[in-house]
Amino acid sequence: MTFDSVEDSGSSVMSTPTLPTPPEFSGEPFSALYLSKEFPLATFSTGAKALESNKPLRVECQARTRIPTPYGEFFLHLYKNNHDSKEHLAIVFGDDIRSTTLDAVQEGETEMDRIIRGAYQGRLNPNKTNNSSKVSTSSPLPPLVRIHSECFTGETVHSVRCDCGDQLAEAMRLMHAEGRGVVVYLRQEGRGIGLLEKIKAYNLQDLGYDTVSANVALSHPPDLRTYDVACEILKDLNLPTIRLLTNNPDKIEQLEKGGLKVTERVPMIPKEWTVEHEVQTTHKRKSEESYTEVDSYLKTKVERMRHLIDIPTLASAVPDTL
Ligand SMILES: [Zn+2]
Repeated sequence: MTFDSVEDSGSSVMSTPTLPTPPEFSGEPFSALYLSKEFPLATFSTGAKALESNKPLRVECQARTRIPTPYGEFFLHLYKNNHDSKEHLAIVFGDDIRSTTLDAVQEGETEMDRIIRGAYQGRLNPNKTNNSSKVSTSSPLPPLVRIHSECFTGETVHSVRCDCGDQLAEAMRLMHAEGRGVVVYLRQEGRGIGLLEKIKAYNLQDLGYDTVSANVALSHPPDLRTYDVACEILKDLNLPTIRLLTNNPDKIEQLEKGGLKVTERVPMIPKEWTVEHEVQTTHKRKSEESYTEVDSYLKTKVERMRHLIDIPTLASAVPDTL
């Protein structure tokens, strides 16, 4: 199988490889159709590995794929590690950012195995390239990085108890605009306490607790998140020096302890607190409960978790729920 590099608007795009034709759907079970000689998935690793939390942390990128989005095109990288069984992710903008463990040649793998797990250069199908994402990668600055912890409630079902969905979208927008960047997406819901405990904490918040005191009332530390997996993922992506999108000084300290160099903190201004949003919603704020909930959450992060953002006058007028 050959992959001739084809120039297309200055970007390296592969010729379409000679892939086996996927079988027509015939009512047979999926596995019987695809576990054939022509589609040798049977040789593909399941990725299941024994945990070794007493050994040094190691991460391995096991698969990567192209994802077109309204924020441009990125490559989603799925990581496994030897300390937990979670599927941590890296959302990578910029074709020059490559994973060392993904690109490493695995024993006995075929060219098709490498394609299926995403260890290829360029694009598999030039017709499915999102041209809008082709932006300059000549910036001399270290790449923007966001360490983002999973938030099902804020990102998937659009809860306005927090601003996680907006923060993720804004990070991706900024990275697309620069043409490079990485969101390390860690599977640690509810600042590490998990979705079950987070749901309980939300009920306590409705009784008047804030986001910190609710965790404490459930016998959890205010913040259980760790960033050692993120450090190893960034090293695997060959990014020892970064600009970090964050308001949280604890993240900078932990990444630097983990061996990374943070040359700049790029603040994340909450959408709720931007000037334009302020103008648009001042009228609505007084009557819509959702705005006061996210304001209280943000205010608690500033006052009790050392977050470095200025509380706007209007938001500070919202009664603290303590
Ligand atoms: Zn959230």
